[in-house]
Amino acid sequence: MDKHVHNRVKLDLKKHNLGHLEGKRTIDLTDEEIEQLMDAAAADDIALSLGILWSRVNVRKALDEGKCENCGRCCNPNPNRPDSPGVEVFEAELDAISAASRIPIEKLLQMTTKGAEAKPGPTTREPTRWLPLPCPFRNQAEHRCEIHESNPVVCRLYPFSMSGEILAVHVDCAYGKDVFRNMIKELRHVIPDR
Ligand code: SF4
Ligand code: SF4
Repeated sequence: MDKHVHNRVKLDLKKHNLGHLEGKRTIDLTDEEIEQLMDAAAADDIALSLGILWSRVNVRKALDEGKCENCGRCCNPNPNRPDSPGVEVFEAELDAISAASRIPIEKLLQMTTKGAEAKPGPTTREPTRWLPLPCPFRNQAEHRCEIHESNPVVCRLYPFSMSGEILAVHVDCAYGKDVFRNMIKELRHVIPDR
């Protein structure tokens, strides 16, 4: 799967025989439709918008709506998305990754491909690069990240990414699914019926 700062890709509902959900608010979907929506998004490796602004408080709250099982899926390729560019890393993060991995910057640059100008905050833009998948820092035998203390911010925030200024969640693991279900339940209570 791919880990990135921005995610503006739209889910093709018709492709998944879910065209009848088009135009509906997520909070108005039945629990069964929510599960179908998550299955479709997971198959296409698309993050689902939560309809709330990206902010430190909202991300912190959303992260607490589930628990990472350290399954490693987000550090490995998604068979359904062979074209995934990988794990997005801010160039500014390479020094810390180099120190943690003891891989010189020059080699890290060779291991990565050039990304876009990503937007980490409301005003700034920074260049990024892509780490390939499977991520070279995933220790598959011991089920851990070799650079855990210095891993890219996208890894620390996963299963979240930004869709414009809106918080979006990847639902291809139990953690992401729990977060989405729980956040939708909460939003149903605070957003009035139409
Ligand atoms: S965030 Fe999800 S996919 Fe990644 S390791 Fe945790 S449970 Fe697995
Ligand atoms: S840096 Fe670590 S957490 Fe991030 S994709 Fe690689 S192995 Fe996974």
